[in-house]
Amino acid sequence: MNKSDFQILNEQIYNRQLVYLDNAATTQKPQAVLDAIIDGYTHWNANIHRGVHHLSQVATQHHEAARQRVADFLGAQSANEIIFTKGATDSINMLAFSFGEANIHEGDEIIISQLEHHSNIVPWQMLCERKKAILKVISLKDDLTLDMTAFETLISPKTKLISVAHVSNVLGIINPVEDIIRIAHAHNIPVCIDGAQSAPHMPINVQQLDCDFFVCSAHKMYGPTGLGILYGKEQWLNNLPPAEGGGEMIEHVRFEHTTYNTLPYKFEAGTPNFIGSHAFAAALDYISQIGMSAIHQTETELTAYAEKRLNEIPNISIYAQGQPKTGVISFNIGNIHPFDIGTILDHMGIAVRTGHHCAEPLIDYLKVPGTIRLSLALYNDKADIDAFIPALQRAVDILS
Ligand code: PLP
Repeated sequence: MNKSDFQILNEQIYNRQLVYLDNAATTQKPQAVLDAIIDGYTHWNANIHRGVHHLSQVATQHHEAARQRVADFLGAQSANEIIFTKGATDSINMLAFSFGEANIHEGDEIIISQLEHHSNIVPWQMLCERKKAILKVISLKDDLTLDMTAFETLISPKTKLISVAHVSNVLGIINPVEDIIRIAHAHNIPVCIDGAQSAPHMPINVQQLDCDFFVCSAHKMYGPTGLGILYGKEQWLNNLPPAEGGGEMIEHVRFEHTTYNTLPYKFEAGTPNFIGSHAFAAALDYISQIGMSAIHQTETELTAYAEKRLNEIPNISIYAQGQPKTGVISFNIGNIHPFDIGTILDHMGIAVRTGHHCAEPLIDYLKVPGTIRLSLALYNDKADIDAFIPALQRAVDILS
């Protein structure tokens, strides 16, 4: 990996060198990904699957090779278990609709946690409203980790699904999903893992995890926007109805009755983002060359370094300090509004995110208006943190 693979990192913001620390929102793209997009549109752009002509066949081959690439990256048993979606949000919405149609009835229960992103709350809430089901929430302990004792007491014979984040997008905490899955399976309850913040930062093997469903977004993994993954164990996906109707997902259409395609196409209505999937495969090649274990180790060390340096700032509250984390640190300084700090940092060329981070129930729980969130990626280094800390101190001085 070379920082120069990411041209955008050379940008000047208000005549200052960009320091990009907003990677949990989206990552920058290496040249290999930009090249893959140009290659697709320049040399083989044609709609896939339905064409007899050459370009269509080439495009189809690239798209299906990308599916296999994702299956290998996530450790899935088969490419049939990889559904291309528009993003992690779309994946959860599709699952909530499809799983809900087949399995959720009045009085059934779904368990999520206090620290979920809105994308892993609202689709389940909508399902519960539609089916008169009940949404239960795993509470947090004082150290902001999941209360696993409380979790076990939430499980009942009515529990039909558990859906939790692998890594919190606000706190960076790595949740004990292996334990959650083991406990859930002892009760025959399937588990969906929201991997939007884990897949970019650590090795994932869905077979080892034994999760039933797993979702992630390509744009948070150095790939293009508008593309995500819904992984599901084949036996689950085979027994779920399609979430959307249209071309590609059908076997035969008659006005009286339509029969559906096999996996994975049953869940892919309409023209898929086949240039995006090819670019995503290039992103996965790029990060695999570095190695997900190496990425995890470097980012964990840099997270610890950033936490240590942040402690130099008086009156700082770092949330979930010292917990097992990957790449994300949220904090506040005294009573200063996070937005004010974020705005001043921006004028110094530093991109961080401030606010509720699409996790309002967690922010309410913390009883703050929001947090300042620093989030790292493989191209960040100590120099970025060393530029960030004095800039932050300057912002605090201006606002105090
Ligand atoms: N889940 C988590 C934990 C996230 O952090 C995000 C995005 O920040 C999402 C889901 C939604 O991802 P997307 O907006 O790419 O659909």
